[in-house]
Amino acid sequence: MPYNMSYDKDNRLIISDIVCSCGSVHNRPTQDIYVGSGIIYNTAAYIQKRLSGKNCVLVADNITWDIAGAKVSSQLKSAGFHVIDCVLTRKERLEPDETAVGEVFLALQGDTDFLVSVGSGSITDTTRVVAARANLPQVCIGTAPSMDGYTSSICPLTYHGVKIHRPGKCPEIIICDTEILKTAPMDMVCAGVGDVLGKYIAKADWKIGRIINDEVYCDVCGEIVTDALGKLLDNIDEIKARSDKGIRLLTEALLLSGMTIMIIGHTRAVASVEHNIAHYWEMMQMFKGRPAPGHGASVGVSTLLVLPVFKRFADEDLSALDLDSVRKGAISRESRVEWMRRAYGPAAQPIMNENEGDFLNWDEQMRRVTCAQTRFAQIRQCIDEIPSLSVIEDAMRRLGAPLTPGQLDIDTPLLNLSMRCAKDYRTRYTLFKLINECGLEDKYLAEYPLD
Ligand SMILES: [Zn+2]
Ligand SMILES: [Zn+2]
Repeated sequence: MPYNMSYDKDNRLIISDIVCSCGSVHNRPTQDIYVGSGIIYNTAAYIQKRLSGKNCVLVADNITWDIAGAKVSSQLKSAGFHVIDCVLTRKERLEPDETAVGEVFLALQGDTDFLVSVGSGSITDTTRVVAARANLPQVCIGTAPSMDGYTSSICPLTYHGVKIHRPGKCPEIIICDTEILKTAPMDMVCAGVGDVLGKYIAKADWKIGRIINDEVYCDVCGEIVTDALGKLLDNIDEIKARSDKGIRLLTEALLLSGMTIMIIGHTRAVASVEHNIAHYWEMMQMFKGRPAPGHGASVGVSTLLVLPVFKRFADEDLSALDLDSVRKGAISRESRVEWMRRAYGPAAQPIMNENEGDFLNWDEQMRRVTCAQTRFAQIRQCIDEIPSLSVIEDAMRRLGAPLTPGQLDIDTPLLNLSMRCAKDYRTRYTLFKLINECGLEDKYLAEYPLD
């Protein structure tokens, strides 16, 4: 094994002994990440071990306050901390928007030493952006194994009704008490599983990027994620039962995925075209003023949609490509701009600005196609490493996770567009880009027609 995963006596998760020749700098995560049963009662001790200062703001919403916030607050107060409770009370699901961020900001005092977030995605992100702006450390108490963002440094937020991303900081201390996490509703557990299963696609795309574009692929990060995924798929019944073992494995898979971002400094191991589709659905539904589907559920469903495309490509005969007709079908800069405006609406321009490399000239397109032809066996190997659709679908069905876009209120026009423009969201290489560059998009995505 090119790395070692262990726990110290305090239940602190440690990744060590990384051996990798990929050439990247491998940073060892410096955060204190704890996973264990009943460890929420060690919160004060964990904080005393790492942070100085006694004054904190504890952020929860009305739901997470009842689950864990009240317990943590009283524990910290008895241990001599001065705690300001900032409970974001909402009738509906909390949105990490300007109101939420503003409430947390106003709870801060001149002498606040650190912030404590008690919750999952929205609470963690809301607190994270404030902690970063106020330059204060954050302690994160997870309440649901629903996403891989506990260890993230990016905050997805909503501002004036539009999804934005702002830089944040990774919490210094992350505490995942499996006794708390296993009380999370089943849809949040399914969301966590969906978010993790998408990583099979991310890994294959990363490897295809190495083959076509000489991208640096980190074996250790790839393996950390694959090991976690394998354990997860082997234990779906434990996860369904929300047993200690099942919830621990899911939590580890989510945390370890996040840790690869710290190790390698980017999200290549954890997000690709399946995440692009999920972000697209979310973005477009918000533009239309409709409720956006949950992140993990979307990633799970989009994984089921793209996986068959991958598997089918493994049987492609690229030697039969007619390069002349591929060239005739190559898209001009003007047509691409028009397409991006149609697909992405108001988000098109910023996406094009950030991904200039996606405007290909024919020489570059042909280089990629020729490379895929010569190295097809290696591409097939990356695809063969992905489990079959039935394995992934069966796992999600057993859990009761949503399986179709319809279950997420994604209508057919939006679905079709998303399958066609997922490749255009970022420059990062994907099999969907390759299919398009080989002139095969209409063949592979025939069931997703545009008009
Ligand atoms: Zn995700
Ligand atoms: Zn590496």
